[in-house]
Amino acid sequence: MSAQTSHYESDALPTETVDVAVIGGGAAGLNGALMLARSLRSVVVIDSGRPRNAPAAAMHGFLVLDGTPPSEILERGRLQVRQYGGRIVFGEVAAAEAAAPSADGDLRFTVTLDDGRALTARRVLVATGLRDTLPEVPGLAEHWGHSVVHCPYCHGFEVRDEPIGILATGPASVHHAWLFRQLTDDLVYFTRGTDLDLATRARFAARDIQVVETDVGEVVNDNDGALAGVRLTDGTFVGRRVLAVATRMQARTEGLDGLKLPMEDLPDGMGHHFASAMAGITAIPGVWVAGNAADLTAQVGASAAAGALAGSHINAELATADTDAALAAAQKATG
Ligand SMILES: Cc1cc2nc3c(=O)[nH]c(=O)nc-3n(C[C@H](O)[C@H](O)[C@H](O)COP(=O)(O)OP(=O)(O)OC[C@H]3O[C@@H](n4cnc5c(N)ncnc54)[C@H](O)[C@@H]3O)c2cc1C
Repeated sequence: MSAQTSHYESDALPTETVDVAVIGGGAAGLNGALMLARSLRSVVVIDSGRPRNAPAAAMHGFLVLDGTPPSEILERGRLQVRQYGGRIVFGEVAAAEAAAPSADGDLRFTVTLDDGRALTARRVLVATGLRDTLPEVPGLAEHWGHSVVHCPYCHGFEVRDEPIGILATGPASVHHAWLFRQLTDDLVYFTRGTDLDLATRARFAARDIQVVETDVGEVVNDNDGALAGVRLTDGTFVGRRVLAVATRMQARTEGLDGLKLPMEDLPDGMGHHFASAMAGITAIPGVWVAGNAADLTAQVGASAAAGALAGSHINAELATADTDAALAAAQKATG
């Protein structure tokens, strides 16, 4: 699934080397940039304007901002970064790679946009988010983020008490069923060829969760275009107002191959993300990752927090590098 692009005013791309290039301007990238800009670091966020939650009308489950449209949160975030001197460039990164170090041995990276413009930075924060892939069921994608949902904490309250169907994609869907059963008494579990052991069937029966084994052929709309249910491959119609589905989640890696960042897979083919350690440190010196690109389960709050932590860690690392360089220069001057 790709979310729609939201265009906004772009700052000019600086020609001088900046302290940090942030690739991706969602919650993670903007909060990282905020910490860096407030530490008087020169920071440029390059963002293609396609945040993961763009289809959603409002963001939920994050204190104070609950109920705010995602676009408004990002707009306010960009404003705050800019208030501290951070720059936000609208564009798509097509290549990023380590460059020759500076004369004093500090790291350098080149980040190139798809229109050919390029930026040199001392450090890089990757905050590109992830891409959700839905199962290929005709009619499913058009309802993504509205009547087709993945996250009980994001939209669960809004679909409470509705007739909900779980479109199973693997073992994680059983977990999904328990969470959505908390929100409705009318839950149907469409197995779609996935395994369901006897113990789980007994537990489903105990919670009045109906199991449908026949495969789902298509999603059916009512006359107003709203989701009305699914048609099974044997022609049976099952009325549902909401479908919950665990997507395959893949960190967005386009244009980043040159950074040579190691990846990690989730079990059962559920997705993959950039490997990282505390504060978003990666195996590649000078490159950090934050948000959904590193943690596929992070919601907006956790993504913003990860970006903030990575930003503060980058600032600390730069402070050490600045001090090392100053000491080397002082020692050279005194012979
Ligand atoms: C339908 C839906 C609803 C959701 N609702 C909620 C909710 O209610 N509450 C909640 O807490 N969470 C919600 N989430 C989860 C939320 O979307 C994520 O937690 C959050 O977006 C992660 O932030 P991020 O900064 O890591 O990535 P993103 O927000 O996806 O931002 C990444 C940014 O990087 C940019 N980018 C990617 N690659 C490049 C590149 N090569 N060059 C330049 N820019 C690039 C993208 O365009 C995007 O703007 C929802 C998710 C979905 C799918």
